[in-house]
Amino acid sequence: MIDIHSHFFPRISKTEAHAVDAERAPWLTVDADGRKGQIMLGDRPFRPVHDALWDAEVRVRSLDRAGVDLQIVCATPVMFGYTWEAPRAADWAARMNEKAAQYCAGHPTRLKWFSQVPLQDTKLACAEVIRARGQGAIGVQIGNHMGAKDLDHPDLVDFLVFCAENDVPVFVHPWDMMGGPERMKKWMLPWLVAMPAETQLGMLSLILSGALERIPSSLKICFAHGGGSFAYTLGRVDNAWKHRDIVRQDCPELPSSYAHRLATDSAVFDPGALRLLTDVMGIERVMLGTDDPFPLGEQEPGSLVRSSGFLDAAAQRRILHDNACAFFGLRVVASR
Ligand SMILES: [Zn+2]
Repeated sequence: MIDIHSHFFPRISKTEAHAVDAERAPWLTVDADGRKGQIMLGDRPFRPVHDALWDAEVRVRSLDRAGVDLQIVCATPVMFGYTWEAPRAADWAARMNEKAAQYCAGHPTRLKWFSQVPLQDTKLACAEVIRARGQGAIGVQIGNHMGAKDLDHPDLVDFLVFCAENDVPVFVHPWDMMGGPERMKKWMLPWLVAMPAETQLGMLSLILSGALERIPSSLKICFAHGGGSFAYTLGRVDNAWKHRDIVRQDCPELPSSYAHRLATDSAVFDPGALRLLTDVMGIERVMLGTDDPFPLGEQEPGSLVRSSGFLDAAAQRRILHDNACAFFGLRVVASR
């Protein structure tokens, strides 16, 4: 199995974070036993976490138990640094990428990593993508938006064109969720309601703006969490495109006809949702993604695909292994 969606969070010290932004730069505090910790923002606890996030040896032992041959790790989105002035964000991204490279260095056949970039400055972001690739990055992770700029913004389209032209796979992760604390008060509503909408917003921004008409079809772009709300609401979007000219104005073809330009991971947690997702995206554009090691991830990697009841052995193998090999140009022998 190849898991294309998992996170790491390195041992960023309080001093290192505060030197960048004392209020918002994330850092890690670890308990005396080294097993548990907290991601901190400024002086506030942000999220309780455990050692697989920063300890590659622990991570690889869990991959062994789960039968995962290769896992791609990427920054926890709180590490993005998109709100800072560009040079500071570029320096931060380079340091986080070095930490990602170090995290994977002891297990080069088991762990690969996506880079992060200072997306607020396209030139610096493109430079960091290439620099990080030289250090071993397998692709780049970006947030689904950069402040008020969605993926159709010319700056972000330029970045995606650059990735297409340089054969850099892009993984898009939702972050900085819409709604705010007034509406999304508790029960993890930002993760359950706003995150799927953010992902859908990213995908529809590319489609309805006509950006995919301007971005080379060679772009490899994959969205997290099964594309969020995208698959379930695509019929509604097509219907709107047929009946309202303001939906058609920038998008020359039926929105659903662009689904083959995009890929998603498989993190939808329900067989019916996975069936719809594979119908909408095509079986060759869905790849195993677990969101490991967070509690909202798939706790037993591959279990949904294996137990879904509608995928034959060849289709399961595509989602669990072959599609990722093709997408990332990997040669990995599946162990089971
Ligand atoms: Zn994630």
